Amino acid sequence: MFITPSSNRLHIGIFGRRNLGKSSLINAITSQDMAIVSDVPGTTTDPVYKAMEILPIGPCMLIDTAGIDDSGELGERRVGATRKVLRKTDVAILLFGSETGVGGFEMEMIDLFRDAGIPFIPCVTKSDIEDTRGVEEQIVSLGLLPIKVSSVTLDGIEQLKFRIIEVSPPGWSPVPLVKDLLAPGDKVVLVCPIDGAMPQGRLILPQVQVLREVLDADSSAVVVKDSGLTKALTDLRRSPELVITDSQVFEDVAKMVPEEVPLTSFSIIFARHKGNLDLFVAGVEAVKGLRDGDEILIAEACTHHVQPEDIGRSKIPTWLREYTAKDLTFDIVSGGDFPADPGKYKLVVMCGGCMVTRREIQHRVGLCVSKSVPITNYGVLTAFMMGILGRVLEPFEENYDKSRKV
Ligand code: SF4
Repeated sequence: MFITPSSNRLHIGIFGRRNLGKSSLINAITSQDMAIVSDVPGTTTDPVYKAMEILPIGPCMLIDTAGIDDSGELGERRVGATRKVLRKTDVAILLFGSETGVGGFEMEMIDLFRDAGIPFIPCVTKSDIEDTRGVEEQIVSLGLLPIKVSSVTLDGIEQLKFRIIEVSPPGWSPVPLVKDLLAPGDKVVLVCPIDGAMPQGRLILPQVQVLREVLDADSSAVVVKDSGLTKALTDLRRSPELVITDSQVFEDVAKMVPEEVPLTSFSIIFARHKGNLDLFVAGVEAVKGLRDGDEILIAEACTHHVQPEDIGRSKIPTWLREYTAKDLTFDIVSGGDFPADPGKYKLVVMCGGCMVTRREIQHRVGLCVSKSVPITNYGVLTAFMMGILGRVLEPFEENYDKSRKV
C-alpha cells in the first residue's frame, strides 16, 4: 500500500558458514518462501537482497550473504566481499552451528562487525535437531548473548526479531516525516492548538521536527492555532499543498479545510515515520468488532502533564464509547509501564509517540503483534471514528501526486 524506498529500509545482513540454514532462516523471519532454500552447500553465491515488510520491525532489506565463506574465497577476497556488504548493513546476524562452533571464520566476522561499528546478533541455528549447548557456551564465553532458533519449529524467531529492534541504530527510521511529500516552493499549514498541555513558551518536539523538514524540502510553513486556521487559509494567495493538524482537533479542522486540500495529522506522520502506519490502519478495523465489557489499553509513551480534557485519558474513551455504543473498559499506561503481556486487550491505542525512539515504539508494537492484539494510534483512530481516515491517508498513497497544486 505504501512505498518504502530501499534506502529507507533497515538493512539486515545474515552471515555464517555454508549449510547453517541462512536461507531457511530468512524464510522463517519473513514467514515467506522467498529466499532460495537448498540443502546443497553454496546454492547462492552472491549476496541476495530482498526487500520486505517484517512485523514488527517494519520495512527491511534482508541481505542473504551465502557464499562469503566459500572455500574459493579465502583470506583477503572474503574480507573484501564481506566489507562490501557491511557498508550497507545496519544490523548483522551471525549464524553458528553445533559442529563448526566458534572458529576462525566466526572470530573474523566478529572483528569485522566491531571494526565497522555494526551491531550483531549471534544466532545458533538448527536447535530442533542438534545439541547446541556446546556452541552456546562458547559464544557466552566471548561475552556475547546467543539466540537459539529453529527455522522448522520457529522457536526463537520472535525473540530474534525483538533483538533486531533492540540493537537497531538509535533513531533509525524507515521514512522521513514530510520531506518526501513536498516539492520546493510548496506551502504547508501546521495547526498547533495551544492548550494547558503545551509547555510554556515553546512548541513541542514533533512540531519542531516537522517544521525543520519543511524547510529542508525548500518549502515554507504557516503555523496557526486551530482558532486562526480559517483566517490563515483565506489570507493565503493559493491553497497550501498540505495541512497538518494535532489530531485532537481533527474534526473541526477537517470542516475548515476545503475537501480538495490534503490534510493529515502529526501522529499519522509519525506513525509512518516510525514504520507502523500500515499496521495501525489495519488495527483500527478492530473497533467494528468491539463488544460490551471489552478491555482497551491506552498507551501513552511518555509521562506528560495531564489535562482534564486529555486526548488519551478523556476524549478517546468518550469518543470510542459513543462511536461503538458499547460499555468498554479502559486501562491507561504511560512511560515505560507497557504490559509485557497485552493479550487480554481487544485493542491497544498508542499515542503519537513523539517523544520516544522508534525502537521503544517497535518494542510495544512487537508485544501486541506477538499476542495478535490489534494496535492503532490516536490519529488513525480519531480519523476513523470521524469518517475521514481515507482523506488523511491520501497524501501517503502510492499514486499521490506531490506536485499537485490546488
Ligand atoms: S510521546 Fe505520546 S504522550 Fe508523550 S507527548 Fe508525545 S504523543 Fe503525548
